[in-house]
Amino acid sequence: MALMTGEQYIESIRKLNTRIYMFGKQIPNAVDDPILRPSLNSVKMTYDLAQDPEYQELMTTTSHLTGKKINRFCHIHQSTKDLILKVKMQRLCGQKTAACFQRCVGMDAFNAVYATAYETDQAHGTHYFDNFKKYMEYVQEADLVVDGAMTDPKGDRGLAPHAQADEDLFLHVVERRPDGVVVRGAKAHQTGASNSHEILVMPTQAMKPEDKDYAIAFSVPIDAEGIFMIVGRQSCDTRKLEDGTMDRGNPCFGGMEALVIFDNVFVPNDRIFLNGESEFATGLVERFASYHRQSYGGCKVGVGDVLIGAAAVAADQNGVPKASHVKDKLIEMIHLNETLYSCGLACSSNGWQTAAGNYMVDTLLANVCKQNVTRFPYEIARLAEDIAGGIMVTCPSEADLNDPELGPYVEKYLQGVASVPTRDRLKIMRLIENLTLGTAAVGYRTESLHGAGSPQAQRIMISRQGDLAGKKALAKNIVGIE
Ligand code: SF4
Ligand code: FE
Repeated sequence: MALMTGEQYIESIRKLNTRIYMFGKQIPNAVDDPILRPSLNSVKMTYDLAQDPEYQELMTTTSHLTGKKINRFCHIHQSTKDLILKVKMQRLCGQKTAACFQRCVGMDAFNAVYATAYETDQAHGTHYFDNFKKYMEYVQEADLVVDGAMTDPKGDRGLAPHAQADEDLFLHVVERRPDGVVVRGAKAHQTGASNSHEILVMPTQAMKPEDKDYAIAFSVPIDAEGIFMIVGRQSCDTRKLEDGTMDRGNPCFGGMEALVIFDNVFVPNDRIFLNGESEFATGLVERFASYHRQSYGGCKVGVGDVLIGAAAVAADQNGVPKASHVKDKLIEMIHLNETLYSCGLACSSNGWQTAAGNYMVDTLLANVCKQNVTRFPYEIARLAEDIAGGIMVTCPSEADLNDPELGPYVEKYLQGVASVPTRDRLKIMRLIENLTLGTAAVGYRTESLHGAGSPQAQRIMISRQGDLAGKKALAKNIVGIE
């Protein structure tokens, strides 16, 4: 098949027996649920755009494994150009959905596992790289969405995995069999879990030899026996259950996260990509984290484009597009957003080839990229709220606007410039609310802080790679200190 259409993707998700729980109840699937459907629509966009002749170069490429045309989200990067096109693709998807489109976690996991499996085999004579290449051929041919799963619940952050009071707080092997292993544990904050075909699990942090049962990477179908998920609540999520669409802010698209639980799940040998070689956990984690920190220089920029556009429309609707302070705020928002994009492009341009042959981002610059993402979207959101005005959080509901008696008053008193229908003005207010405080705030605001690792995780990487000793030597050299 190699390229699914958006509709084929939706039907493929409907066919799975994924166990999804939300608000204390099991739901039949993600396709027909009004709260989850917008998140599925966001992933569908990654298929729809790949069918569009205008976006072929960004959205599709040629598999180095099969020579066939594939979706770029299933690609193993073969050059720095691939890394750059990845970021551009993510900006495009962010612009089209104004939400998290979820498919990047799999792409970033593919590239991290690919390089690490090769190096583990070189050191240990294992066969993880062959396993993984076969797996990638399957993923590319079937055009699958894979949830790249890294974050364990972690319990007491001061204790190693094996030293936790509850041994399941890090996902681990509980049984070794001739044909595979059985694992137990959970992965938290799993982006797009209900919209995925597969889940690709990696360790969450550096591991010591005592933690070897926790140093495991593998993939299983998302509906494998023993896996279930509990969907995370989002601000304003139940607005999707109401009549009308205006109050949702973003009527069609959204993101989703879940706590995915592995309750004694069997993993066959050919789906194992790391198993006890604890010294390779660090590299795998750092690679995945760096790829995903690069990703944020694309996706958050695309969503930022929508937010800047919404703020500019709000200024037009309020009759103040020419006010110098409004113009300056919009310039500042663009400046901040393009700075993030520059970081995403820079760490891609400075990429390098791994021993396995795929391309890795410049990890220092990728971490600088994400560190900026922990700050700039907050300032962009603040400026958008500044331009929008307080009405973005005080305006009446769509039901009031539609009410035969109340509606005319809402229309009359919430009017901006006379030529703009009040409904259009309120739609833009709800969109800004959605991006800064509502369901999409998960993807744009708080995820900018914690997604792909919290700010401190980047600062650790920056301190390790910033070459302070080299910088000191430069200073001493200038003044002639030995
Ligand atoms: Fe992709 Fe961004 Fe969502 Fe991560 S947060 S999965 S990079 S859209
Ligand atoms: Fe994310």
